[in-house]
Amino acid sequence: MSDPDCLFCKIVAGEIPADKVGETEHTVAFRDINPQAPTHVLVIPKVHQPDIGSLAAAEPEAAVALLVEAERVARDEGTGSFRLVFNTGADAFQTVFHCHGHVLSGRSLTWPPG
Ligand code: AMP
Ligand code: ZN
Repeated sequence: MSDPDCLFCKIVAGEIPADKVGETEHTVAFRDINPQAPTHVLVIPKVHQPDIGSLAAAEPEAAVALLVEAERVARDEGTGSFRLVFNTGADAFQTVFHCHGHVLSGRSLTWPPG
């Protein structure tokens, strides 16, 4: 359920401070410390799963809750237009191996991403 060495499990447990913008039964949402857009919020499941695929397979209710919360964050904290990014795997620049969706909003976003 949780990993004692995981940074985001420590944020869920309140052992490391975070600038939270929401919490639900299944999720915590907090501002990224290195924002890439005016609104850059990470939405994570409370349960420890390394990525969105493993979360969806093991805890589908939490995966859906994460999507619902991402949309709420984009509406309440951003403009409602948003990008939801799951960097998955080292080659996709995943650096924290606790599932997290990046909610990016508040400016025009280019495509394709780098
Ligand atoms: P990723 O590269 O997709 O794994 O994203 C990890 C994100 O976590 C990066 O955008 C970091 O800026 C962010 N991050 C790392 N540590 C913290 C922290 N303590 N609080 C908030 N965001 C963090
Ligand atoms: Zn974790």
